[in-house]
Amino acid sequence: MMKGCYMGRYGHLAVVTNIACTYIRRGFASMAPTIHKFDYLVIGGGSGGIASARRAAEFGVKVGLVENSALGGTCVNVGCVPKKIMFNAASHADALQHHKHYGFNVEPTPFDWPAVKKNRDAYIKRLNGIYENNLLKSKVKLINGKATFVGERTVQVDGQLYEGEHVLIATGGRPSAPGVEGAEHGIDSDGFFELEKLPKRAFVVGAGYIAVEMAGILKTLGSDVTMLIRHDQVLRTFDSMISEVVTQQLQNIGINLLKNDGFAGATKDEQGTLSVATKSGQAFTNIDCLLFAIGRVPNVEIGLEKAGVQLEKGHIRVDAFQNTSAPGVYALGDVCGRALLTPVAIAAGRRLAHRLFNKQPELKLDYENIPSVVFSHPPSGSVGLTEREARDQFGDAQVRVYSSVFTPLEFALSEHKVKTHMKLVCAGADERVVGLHMVGHAVDEILQGFAVAVKMGATKAQFDDCVAIHPTSAEELVTMR
Ligand code: FAD
Ligand code: NDP
Repeated sequence: MMKGCYMGRYGHLAVVTNIACTYIRRGFASMAPTIHKFDYLVIGGGSGGIASARRAAEFGVKVGLVENSALGGTCVNVGCVPKKIMFNAASHADALQHHKHYGFNVEPTPFDWPAVKKNRDAYIKRLNGIYENNLLKSKVKLINGKATFVGERTVQVDGQLYEGEHVLIATGGRPSAPGVEGAEHGIDSDGFFELEKLPKRAFVVGAGYIAVEMAGILKTLGSDVTMLIRHDQVLRTFDSMISEVVTQQLQNIGINLLKNDGFAGATKDEQGTLSVATKSGQAFTNIDCLLFAIGRVPNVEIGLEKAGVQLEKGHIRVDAFQNTSAPGVYALGDVCGRALLTPVAIAAGRRLAHRLFNKQPELKLDYENIPSVVFSHPPSGSVGLTEREARDQFGDAQVRVYSSVFTPLEFALSEHKVKTHMKLVCAGADERVVGLHMVGHAVDEILQGFAVAVKMGATKAQFDDCVAIHPTSAEELVTMR
């Protein structure tokens, strides 16, 4: 019980206070363990956990948040943020190629990876501090350590017990391990952010978001990159236009793309360089970075059986309101395995806080039409149904597709021109835009506004009724015929 014991705002104060409470109880009261009670106990201080905890605290409830690593979770520490910084670095490298055509005779210089890493690490450390301060300002009690369920809504952290009237599991995930002999010589996306220098020869295994983004970053910054995929295209869960174009773009930027093949093993020599073999019998030597990006697994090893929380295909099973199978226990974000994206975890977390503590019992996240961008070179963006999904859902006769391929004006003077591809998937007699897919310069920034229109159910005629902004790439979306 927390009653009568002051929980300090700072971790170390709290520990001292907890020990004192235990001592007082041992000396003067019973030997029963202290249970620190909260209205809302959040496990995981990543995108979803922090967002939900802070929003709940705004409604005046007593919130505790347990985190066993750096605040901010995957996105801040080993995900979106450091990745986007490296993507930005690569975009500068891209832009350098075009400078001379615009009158800037800038000689390319070697990329200073250690300098960028140092600045990037410092930036993230600052963010960790900002997150901690924000929790303090919100009056969310930060509990440092690993939470493990010991009861229905009770967890243990470093020998202390914490109980929530409501408990949220937002423990995220981690990179999948390939589980193949020789793979121990490789790194995963977490290891990518620890690299101290630009690899000379990288070998990337995987065909999803991370493999595409990291292979593109490494190649653009100057590594010699080989990429191994199991099928003949990357990003196979996206619209076929995106899979085709991004697969081709990876090759256009000089990545050696090995298709329909698999990783067979790797060995390390005395100098520390690697040799990699593929299932089809190809061998690659002098590799100094073997990177696996083959999906992620949820962090569910937290004593869920004690809480009565059930899994489905390895992830925590939740209903549309983020309820798990255990009353009063909720889960969201990557640990649930659906739309593994930071804004999804944040949106689900905030809505849950409103539902539980702000008298909005019907509030939940709509998982339809979630926009997403792959920071490929150039980037690709997508919202809504793929053409295949639309045809399956509405029938061929009800689906009309508009597409466009063009060279953006940005490359007007450039020798090396990169085309932009856009596609609208429309359904029904009123041609509602049910899918929008793009690959090209700046589509990462174009997509958000159009995602609002798609979410609102805009039709092709309404797109066309909006006057174009000229000359931009985005105008193509309102002028397609
Ligand atoms: P997390 O952010 O992973 O937070 C979970 C937290 O729980 C962690 O801090 C962890 O330490 C903590 N934790 C786990 N177990 C315990 C425990 N037992 N006790 C206490 N604490 C615990 N998404 C985008 O939208 N855009 C991007 O550009 C993007 N890029 C990405 C790039 C990479 C390389 C990766 C790996 C991911 C990227 N993502 C991106 C995905 C995004 O990072 C995740 O979807 C998001 O972080 C999920 O948030 P979460 O709150 O579910 O989990
Ligand atoms: P993804 O799920 O995107 O892709 C993993 C892919 O790797 C699979 O689809 C599969 O493709 C391939 N694969 C799986 N197993 C193997 C294997 N044994 N050998 C070779 N290839 C294999 O996972 P990521 O790890 O790339 O990213 C995880 C998630 O993080 C993403 O789904 C995304 O939600 C999020 N993320 C978001 C980003 C963003 O918003 N920009 C950036 C980075 C991550 P195939 O079946 O074709 O072989």
